[in-house]
Amino acid sequence: MEFKLSAASFVSEKNFLPLDQSALYDVFIIGGGPAGLTAAVYCMRKGLSTGIVVKSLGGQVADTSDVENYMGYRHISGVDLVEKFREQVHQFPIGYDEGAEVVSFSEGKIKKVVFSDGRSFSCKALIIASGKSWRRLGVPGEDRLTGRGVAFCTVCDAPLFAGKNVVVVGGGNSGVESAIDLAPLASKVTVIQNLSELTADTVLVKKLNSFNNVEFIYNSIVEEILGEDIVSGVKLRDLGTGRVSEIATEGVFVEIGLDPNSRFVPPSLELNRFGEIPVDCNCRTSLTGVFAAGDVTTVAYKQIIIAGGEGAKAALAAWDYLLKLNEEE
Ligand SMILES: Cc1cc2nc3c(=O)[nH]c(=O)nc-3n(C[C@H](O)[C@H](O)[C@H](O)COP(=O)(O)OP(=O)(O)OC[C@H]3O[C@@H](n4cnc5c(N)ncnc54)[C@H](O)[C@@H]3O)c2cc1C
Repeated sequence: MEFKLSAASFVSEKNFLPLDQSALYDVFIIGGGPAGLTAAVYCMRKGLSTGIVVKSLGGQVADTSDVENYMGYRHISGVDLVEKFREQVHQFPIGYDEGAEVVSFSEGKIKKVVFSDGRSFSCKALIIASGKSWRRLGVPGEDRLTGRGVAFCTVCDAPLFAGKNVVVVGGGNSGVESAIDLAPLASKVTVIQNLSELTADTVLVKKLNSFNNVEFIYNSIVEEILGEDIVSGVKLRDLGTGRVSEIATEGVFVEIGLDPNSRFVPPSLELNRFGEIPVDCNCRTSLTGVFAAGDVTTVAYKQIIIAGGEGAKAALAAWDYLLKLNEEE
């Protein structure tokens, strides 16, 4: 293992290298959100041979319209912040793959990370920074009509619904933020909440109430999304009365929160009941040489700056682990 940082590490731009199946990486990182990309910078600055796989660059930040709490920028769009992160990683000759998905990995001194296309990569230390993804309703019509009126990312898709009548499912922060983004564009927004009130932050609820084209349906769940080729309505069940009704709509934004992307981990890796990975204060998981950072972990307060900080810690902890491993060999 080469721990000394070589001058070549700082060649500017166009430095991403294809991942090499015959290499033994010091560190392999799963995920290209703030946690994974920060870990990548710290690993490269330590001179570690590093590979990173990024299913979707930027993760949740790419789905965020405005960021106003990331230090250094009073205001920056999510897309611009992702580009800043990419540039920062891009100065290093790092093994990089975008678009591929990890489906499993094996534990042991040498870990093997397997992609859905069958490729596999070996490493001594692994950093899991796979974040979270939009939770789905799991009702008939949802999968079939995704991209045909069913949407999850308001930042990405709201403009497609300009002048239309849309439904937002969820009355927490995700749902209310989504409705706030849609209200200035859509002709009408109906928020469907399974409880008797919204559970979003007061400041968001106040903002949403300032629009006069937003309606609320409480104590109700979506049982089916209707439509042949495109969305035409939703079937609702009132949880109090049991009454089933249908409302017409041209779009359904499913905004009921996020689930951790941890389905690919082996059963021997401890998860909590939500599927999050418990970590200690050095980002160590229950498996030796496997570290985790960001929203996929049990660390509280899911924020960009926290995910970035955890990514840095995971990389430095991996560096410590590799130093000790090196001494033993
Ligand atoms: C709509 C919205 C608005 C937000 N606004 C803010 C805000 O204003 N300020 C703030 O601080 N935070 C905000 N957040 C939260 C913040 O975006 C997250 O806390 C942060 O992005 C978490 O970073 P992460 O790297 O842990 O995970 P993620 O950002 O989720 O990134 C995970 C990465 O892992 C990849 N991945 C997942 N599974 C696999 C796999 N099997 N194989 C390969 N790659 C995989 C993903 O493609 C992605 O690249 C917002 C979140 C949302 C959804």
